[in-house]
Amino acid sequence: MASQIDLLSALQEIDQRLQSKGLALQELRQQTTALFSEIQAKEREADTRQQRLLQLETNRRAAELQLRTEEEKIKEKRVRLNRIRNERELQALRREIDAMKETNSKLEEDALQLLEEIEKEKTALSQTQEQVEELKGKIDAEAARVDAQIATIQEELCMEQGGREDLASQIDPGQRTRYEQLFAKRGGWAIVEIRASTCQGCHMHIPPHMGNQILSNAQQNTGVIFHCPHCGRILVWKIEQSPPPQD
Ligand SMILES: [Zn+2]
Repeated sequence: MASQIDLLSALQEIDQRLQSKGLALQELRQQTTALFSEIQAKEREADTRQQRLLQLETNRRAAELQLRTEEEKIKEKRVRLNRIRNERELQALRREIDAMKETNSKLEEDALQLLEEIEKEKTALSQTQEQVEELKGKIDAEAARVDAQIATIQEELCMEQGGREDLASQIDPGQRTRYEQLFAKRGGWAIVEIRASTCQGCHMHIPPHMGNQILSNAQQNTGVIFHCPHCGRILVWKIEQSPPPQD
């Protein structure tokens, strides 16, 4: 018959698998969350570009309106030019018209510049919109892949849970509670080996007499459980598992 410590060790193996599968589930769920926030960020970017485009178009309409108004004014002044006979007045009006033409050519430049900016913004906007569509297409495939992985892990978790219940029912309730508290408190390592008189959980020295007791306990299968005097973990002489992490 398996000793309590063997059962606890087996329970720990199951619990460690449950824990890592639980973490894997969390990570999988975060993967789709990350993709969703990437889409949201791109959508916000598209909105900003759309707003900017609207503003640029408003500015362009205003610039063109101003340009037409100024052109009308020049036309009126040109008509007046034909009626003036006084040379000084004529020259003053000509200078005025020249200055207005200069201002207008600047306005034309501004309007052209706005048109260029509008074209650029339109290109950038359609690129961003394409990226949004691309990401949305990706998320369907990604969500399906992640859902399938989640389903597999949940099925495995279910089976492990069943195995765990069978095993746990064979363990003394007091020991089981103590083990579960240690497992939660000590990073998933409630049971550790003692090696070279050292607890492999906290790496502290174990008094030689205690080491000897643990060894003879293992040899004679007495079922006595020893706890590390430093970290409280259950000490076993030798169990086959990967080395525990440092505290
Ligand atoms: Zn320890």
